[in-house]
Amino acid sequence: MAALHGLLFEVHTVDGRSIDDTFLLNDVFLLPADPAVVQVAATEERSYVAGPGCRAVVWVAGCLRRCPGCSLREYQAFTSGRPVEVHDLARQVLAIGGLDGVTYSGGEPFEQALPLAELSRILKRSGLTIVVYSGYTLSALEGAPERFGSLLREADILIDGEYREELSGAYRWRGSANQQIHTLSQDRYDSSQWRDGIRESQLAFGADGLRLTGFPSEDFEETLLAGLRRQGVVARRKSAAH
Ligand code: SF4
Repeated sequence: MAALHGLLFEVHTVDGRSIDDTFLLNDVFLLPADPAVVQVAATEERSYVAGPGCRAVVWVAGCLRRCPGCSLREYQAFTSGRPVEVHDLARQVLAIGGLDGVTYSGGEPFEQALPLAELSRILKRSGLTIVVYSGYTLSALEGAPERFGSLLREADILIDGEYREELSGAYRWRGSANQQIHTLSQDRYDSSQWRDGIRESQLAFGADGLRLTGFPSEDFEETLLAGLRRQGVVARRKSAAH
């Protein structure tokens, strides 16, 4: 007869994040394993608020963090969204045309570093640039090259740091003051052209409804819905995306 296990572990994360049952179920046992597949939560074909120029946006599913005020809770689970082959995703992005690049957000793109690195290599061969949002800081990413290096090497711009509700404000392409824009390929971009103090958002109609992206102020959604109601249009939130 096998012995009845009764093992106790003391656990903590290396960067002070909280651990709960959801963390264990979603994030330890369900981490995506296939380097040829991206778990995609949502996409936007043309965004003007997610980095320089006109960019396709891919929001990936899965994030190990639990930032207070996260507007993307439905994207925290690695099982949210749908799996898409890297080469299929590349074909979809390249078919859009007229893009300056692609932006990865989430979720946490660096938890899917391998497939997104491969996707980036394909897209960069067609002249597109890569912007990556991450809850990890640049120094944390540089400190774990085996885990994160493949994608970090492909990023032209990294916008780093977790969203901090108490530091929320009008920052270009960022939600809170602690987040930093790192221009990793200086030959492609001149960061002195990017003015701060701007809070940009985009509204776009698509097949799945009205999508609000970017960094709207806290009362923007309420104002928008009230304005639509006055025009006889009822809108209800289906999911979040930033
Ligand atoms: S890093 Fe982003 S997606 Fe993850 S919990 Fe924080 S705000 Fe949400």
